[in-house]
Amino acid sequence: MPGEFEIITSYFAPSAKAAPTVALGVGDDCALVMPPSGEQLAISIDTLVEGVHFLPDISAEDLAWRLLGSSVSDLAAMGAEPLWLTLSVTLPRADESWLAAFRTGLDGALERYQITLVGGDTCSGPVRVLTAQVQGSVPAEKALRRSGAQPGDIIFASGTLGDSRAGLELIKRGAAQSEIHNYLLQRFLRPTPRTELGLALRDIATAAIDISDGLLADLGHLLDRSSVGAEVELETLPLSQALSTFVDQTQARQWASTGGEDFELCFTVAEEHLAEVDKLSARLDLPLTPIGRIVSGSGVYVSFNGESWVPQISAGFDHFGDPQ
Ligand code: ADP
Ligand code: MG
Repeated sequence: MPGEFEIITSYFAPSAKAAPTVALGVGDDCALVMPPSGEQLAISIDTLVEGVHFLPDISAEDLAWRLLGSSVSDLAAMGAEPLWLTLSVTLPRADESWLAAFRTGLDGALERYQITLVGGDTCSGPVRVLTAQVQGSVPAEKALRRSGAQPGDIIFASGTLGDSRAGLELIKRGAAQSEIHNYLLQRFLRPTPRTELGLALRDIATAAIDISDGLLADLGHLLDRSSVGAEVELETLPLSQALSTFVDQTQARQWASTGGEDFELCFTVAEEHLAEVDKLSARLDLPLTPIGRIVSGSGVYVSFNGESWVPQISAGFDHFGDPQ
């Protein structure tokens, strides 16, 4: 079995040519990087723990994609351009086939999301734990925050919602037997951070958040930070064909509103910028769907075809909360 330093050299050394912003990458005591002048750094860190965030039998390749996809999504939600990644890997054993598959996934995701691995930490521990810290840049005062929504703004969701929750269901059932199943599974395993959208929204949106806990829970976070309320029309939530085929409409809307881990963006736009959202949707070939409106007050009022609708809401997964 390889030792710590062989693992680092074999599986975490850079395969691509160093990015121009990296003066010194993996291999020294620190990485040396060059932040774009005049820009702010956006920094976020996320951890996946075996048995808490992923089941032991997930493939190493998918795990790498999921870790990077969900981390880079936080940069997208701030309107930040991805720059650098540091990666902490804790493993019970130095399993070389697992490491090789993880590296394959990592290389694919680094290339796709245009982010450079510049350092990390490798150690042993009782279960697999992966921590990704991502850094990106955003022009000063241009970052998309959760706090800018104003009464009258329209609330949008990108892409389609609920697919990832359906993918998780398929994993729990241990069966993906059709193209539809595979699509939903991929939406869970390899989320797509909406980086391009986040960059474009810097000049359009008043507030944004990425959907990790579920639309209503994450919109709730945005509303709290903005000190406003919202009305959401459930019938407008964007659903994929695959989800509508997989489950009935009630289940689909339940998952779309509370399911989580879609890593789409929920954002708010003032009336005078609405035409720009349509143009952006066409340019990115990505549905951007109005789902409600910001109002004064607090909390979310959800309606379905004009009637009040009470979702089986969870406030988002709380690691230290009461079991739900
Ligand atoms: P130190 O003991 O000085 O913290 P390490 O021995 O932990 O250094 O790491 C040696 C080098 O390898 C460092 O540049 C570190 O950033 C890098 N490194 C270690 N583990 C990883 C990893 N999982 N991914 C990327 N780089 C890593
Ligand atoms: Mg170290």
